[in-house]
Amino acid sequence: MKLTAFQYGKTELAEAMIFENGSFDIKQPIALLFFLIETGDRKILVDVGCDTMPGFPLFEHKSPVEVLEEYVSRESITDVIITHAHHDHIEAVKYYKSADVYLHRDSVKHAEPYNIEKLRIFDGSFTLCEGVEVIEIGGHSFGSCIVRLDSLVLCGDECYSEKNLTDLIMTGSSVNRENSLAFLTEYRKPCYSPILFHSPSVVGFVGHRILFETDV
Ligand SMILES: [Zn+2]
Repeated sequence: MKLTAFQYGKTELAEAMIFENGSFDIKQPIALLFFLIETGDRKILVDVGCDTMPGFPLFEHKSPVEVLEEYVSRESITDVIITHAHHDHIEAVKYYKSADVYLHRDSVKHAEPYNIEKLRIFDGSFTLCEGVEVIEIGGHSFGSCIVRLDSLVLCGDECYSEKNLTDLIMTGSSVNRENSLAFLTEYRKPCYSPILFHSPSVVGFVGHRILFETDV
């Protein structure tokens, strides 16, 4: 199995979104990322990124599919898992017409504008294939999910910053406090390696970085 992170741009977010009780006036730079899991003969994207970001500035931006194609072709993608149907995580789904697209039932309404063809709707949590678990959290948005590869945890937008986990501070963009706190309490444990979808340190430039690789 192999896990690769792709950074295709940056934007900024008010601290009030990143941290509960944060300032609306202070903005922090955040990276825009998506991920590829290669296992057996499957190539599974976790989120797909966006070409546009209405209401937010885009810096150092390149179309996410072009960043992917410096590594693999778009036609080779077999599956797409959408952690939640917010624009920056789902817009580029149009480039993956032949892939099965997995989406939680509670995200389906928000995904309607994106006209997904091979939509595979799920409820709760499920195992996509050996070693790839999709787990409902429902903290960031209704039906929002994370993806677990054993101890590696692809966090979606359940947290934005390492500090959310280390200091047990909720984000300022949770629809369900209880679910968000349960997520932070579990995944801050030292047995997990959380991977954040907006952290500037995961890749650090427009391009890709292999995060994990094993023969199995
Ligand atoms: Zn996001």
